[in-house]
Amino acid sequence: MKQAKRIRQPQGLLTVRIEGIPASAGYAEGPLFDLDRPPAAYRSKAGAAEEKAALKAAIGKALSRLTSLVENADGDAAGILEFHIAMLEDDALSGPAFVSIGSGEPADVAWRQALDGEIADYEASNQDYFRARAADLRDIRDQVLRALSEDSDLAASPGAILYGTDIAPTRFLETDWSSGGGIALKGGSSASHVAMLARSRGVPMVVGLGASADRPTGNALLDAEHGGIVFSPSPAELEAFRQSSSSFATRQGKAQAFLAQPAVTRTGTPVRVQVNIAYPSDVDGIDIETCDGVGLMRTEFLFGKSLPDEETQYHAYRKVLEWAGDKPVTIRTVDAGGDKPVPGFTVEETNPFLGLRGIRLSLARRDIFRVQIRALLRAAVHGNLKVMFPMIATAEEYSQAAALFAEEQAALAMGGAAHKLPPLGIMVEVPSVAIAPEAFANVAFFSIGSNDLTQYVMAAARDNAAVAPLNSVRHPAVLRLIASVAAFGREQGIPVSLCGDAGGDPAAIPALLEAGLRDLSVAPAQLAMAKAAIAGVSV
Ligand code: PEP
Ligand code: MG
Repeated sequence: MKQAKRIRQPQGLLTVRIEGIPASAGYAEGPLFDLDRPPAAYRSKAGAAEEKAALKAAIGKALSRLTSLVENADGDAAGILEFHIAMLEDDALSGPAFVSIGSGEPADVAWRQALDGEIADYEASNQDYFRARAADLRDIRDQVLRALSEDSDLAASPGAILYGTDIAPTRFLETDWSSGGGIALKGGSSASHVAMLARSRGVPMVVGLGASADRPTGNALLDAEHGGIVFSPSPAELEAFRQSSSSFATRQGKAQAFLAQPAVTRTGTPVRVQVNIAYPSDVDGIDIETCDGVGLMRTEFLFGKSLPDEETQYHAYRKVLEWAGDKPVTIRTVDAGGDKPVPGFTVEETNPFLGLRGIRLSLARRDIFRVQIRALLRAAVHGNLKVMFPMIATAEEYSQAAALFAEEQAALAMGGAAHKLPPLGIMVEVPSVAIAPEAFANVAFFSIGSNDLTQYVMAAARDNAAVAPLNSVRHPAVLRLIASVAAFGREQGIPVSLCGDAGGDPAAIPALLEAGLRDLSVAPAQLAMAKAAIAGVSV
């Protein structure tokens, strides 16, 4: 349970300090913007015809806002916005509201009732995917309500700290972050879509601050490096905060000097630093000279609204391979399930993190897996491809997946299609593999997935703020497993890298190098800081 620390200042002002979990590193100082503020009151119209016209206009206004946002969005952000547009354009969603207006309800009440009914259905689902969609529907509901009440105070002022229970993706996308600002959430998760967006755009964000009885106003200090917020800060508090913030900015500035150089430790040991990407378009913003290749390309993005065909996949993989030239690109076969459900592919389960996810699902649905395998085999001729399998627990799973590659390769050869068999490796993220890696002496490489390995070793979900302190890669049990996998790789001549989020965390890097790792893969925005942290370690 979160404890708020309250300190009364000499002039009577009450300083409140609350700790949370950093989701995107940085500092922000500014006025609070209340994310939980209800929209302004709606002024009812003269009759049903006018109410209907008002709702129609409000939906139109929300749609045009979304359309202009989608123009500047890519990848994940574009996917979220397109879903919102599709929902708003669907008469099945707005139909019941227009019927209620016909029976005498004002537009705002009718719209809220219609949407709340839908939201309740989504929230009651036992599937994460649909529960996550409930948040999208709340976002859509509120956008139209704001348009209806002509809420002029829609945007946060530049540099504000957005504080509330949770934040809608559209709120993040329409906020102008160019003059600073940050996000402080009572709930939220560092694995959420907005947290991913915040990290890639360098917006400071803290989650898991817990519900607070206070309704703070005025200025606040957000420390998203260590995880915390201060309301009504004292002058001493303000000074200490500004010192930490400027030291962070200095470290970031200095880190830029490391970006263009290969990473080496203080004692001259070279360390490979690759990047993790989630969308082919991610590479557009990265200079290939600043990294040693792609250590993890996730492919779940392909499995959005429908299952992707072979051509779509082939072009997505080829784009990244051509961008990387002769540097390696490690593409992971689809890791659906768990925190990444895909309609029409993943199954309903009571405990999806321990269920049919990753390679287990791909082997259960070989029709779908074979399409991805063919696209990978064909794309392999365009660069230095390596392929890895997620959530491997047994050697048998690896052999079955490798056999499918051999079968599809033979079929492509028969048909005369250009293709190449890439080296096949595995993610080390299930404890069974890390404890007994000797069963995998025949794989081409290991890539340690510290996000999942940590949650399974510590029995602490990666997306649950309440157990975040337990979910630590620096726990001796996790580090010992990482060190033993690194040692096994050295003995057997099997390359070992790490592609979990810990690889980009300056606080975890010394321990990872100490554990014997010399190959990390990090989020592109973390490249400079990771290289700078490596330069400070003596191994
Ligand atoms: C991991 O588990 O560390 C990993 C890199 O994979 P993901 O975060 O996609 O599960
Ligand atoms: Mg994983």
